[in-house]
Amino acid sequence: MGLLATHAGPGFAGPYDVLVIGGGNAALCAAISARREGARVLVLEGAPRFYRGGNTRHTRNMRCAHDTATEILSGPYTEDEFFDDLLRVTGGQTNEQLARHMIHESKEMLHWIVEQGVRFQPSLGGTLSLGRTNSFFLGGGRSMLNALYRTAEGLGVDVAYDSEVVGLDIDNGTFRAAFVRRGDGTVRVEAGTLVAAAGGFEANIDWLKEGWGDIADNFLIRGTPYNRGAVLKMLMGAGVETIGDPTQCHAVAIDARAPKFDGGIITRLDCVVFGIVVNRNCERFYDEGEDIWPKRYAIWGRLVAAQPDQIAYIIFDSRSLELFMPSLYPPIKADSIAGLAGELGLDPLRLEATVNGFNGAVQPGTFNDKILDDCRTEGLSPPKTHWARRLEKPPFYAYPVRPGITFTYLGTRVDRDARMLMAGGQPAQNMFAAGEIMAGNVLGKGYAAGIGMTIGSVFGRIAGREAAINARQ
Ligand SMILES: Cc1cc2nc3c(=O)[nH]c(=O)nc-3n(C[C@H](O)[C@H](O)[C@H](O)COP(=O)(O)OP(=O)(O)OC[C@H]3O[C@@H](n4cnc5c(N)ncnc54)[C@H](O)[C@@H]3O)c2cc1C
Repeated sequence: MGLLATHAGPGFAGPYDVLVIGGGNAALCAAISARREGARVLVLEGAPRFYRGGNTRHTRNMRCAHDTATEILSGPYTEDEFFDDLLRVTGGQTNEQLARHMIHESKEMLHWIVEQGVRFQPSLGGTLSLGRTNSFFLGGGRSMLNALYRTAEGLGVDVAYDSEVVGLDIDNGTFRAAFVRRGDGTVRVEAGTLVAAAGGFEANIDWLKEGWGDIADNFLIRGTPYNRGAVLKMLMGAGVETIGDPTQCHAVAIDARAPKFDGGIITRLDCVVFGIVVNRNCERFYDEGEDIWPKRYAIWGRLVAAQPDQIAYIIFDSRSLELFMPSLYPPIKADSIAGLAGELGLDPLRLEATVNGFNGAVQPGTFNDKILDDCRTEGLSPPKTHWARRLEKPPFYAYPVRPGITFTYLGTRVDRDARMLMAGGQPAQNMFAAGEIMAGNVLGKGYAAGIGMTIGSVFGRIAGREAAINARQ
């Protein structure tokens, strides 16, 4: 059966069967997969070529199920174990059918993505301990993307940069065309089917404020400034059913000195477990040693968001300086706690009182940062339940931290074929979604490292294939 392409607008070769909006992992997996099914494919990337690839540029690894150790993974990670991890981090807020489907397909992804030119490397050592579960991209997310673009273009996928989609023509669940800003003008681009892979709305501070209120002004956005949620909003306006809570997102504590957007991985701080964390009033507000860092790093963005002015300070002493991965900015340093308070603009007496109170509550124990050790406080609220050591060996150090938003979870509801569902539950005629824009189907809240790329790769591949098949009908 022939493919049913419709005409593209001026400036585009066309006609196209599948229009992919976005230029990150989800979009490229969809484009390659659709092209391999024989479809004529156009990718519209809103960013300029240099900034192509959204948040995917910043990534390092992907979580996939596998039954045995491999050259790059230190042991098996079964589908059931993956699902258990997902259940735990989301507190059960996941669509079990979709999540199990994704996890099952993730096994195949380890091979498929390599066939598309992506290369892995042995796991990086460090604070997240992911050697068994996560595959690290050789050269990081940018190399991964470059490989996908090379493959897509080699297969004949057309890619247009500086091509922000500013409107969609959707009639009763049927996609007809996208309106694309090109230079000073807007072009109408038609295609047989749509794959929306345009990320979340984390870079749209006004939209974040709708859920969080004005405190969102103090959030830093870890990734691309181009993920403003315009496509998601248009789809919502066209009657696509949404899933997820607008305030749920992946948020970590990052250096408060980081740029507003695109600070990336090097601004994240992994030293919370080694010290104490205080707010602007020099008060501790959470157990810094509750659990091993990979299981807790993703809660600290929300914790800091709940503090006055959305700022906090990680305080530690010289014994811990070399125990964690260094970040972009050097820590602030002083020879005394009062001196450190002065550098941070905090009340010296209050900070001394908090540190003295903490030191007085620390119990004897054997420090071991590789296990849940027995170093803890007693009689302190909140307690520090592991890795509690007195802060007493100068110099003293601090990092100021703010909430760093990685990506949002509110998105389009989809089925197993990554096809969008319309309000009321019936499938859209010819519209598919992949990646952050539909992450909420799997992630109701919480996060397990590396799952963002699993969602994009697995559903991107499915969306592209199904979009190509759909365009044929
Ligand atoms: C610092 C950082 C580190 C991370 N590390 C990891 C990691 O190691 N492992 C992991 O699994 N996840 C990680 N993540 C999360 C991961 O980046 C995302 O889950 C994943 O990249 C999402 O892929 P995507 O294709 O859906 O979105 P993106 O890669 O963000 O791509 C969205 C694309 O849509 C484009 N776009 C947006 N609006 C429009 C429009 N209107 N018109 C046209 N194009 C538009 C953007 O320009 C962009 O190219 C990290 C994120 C950050 C910020």
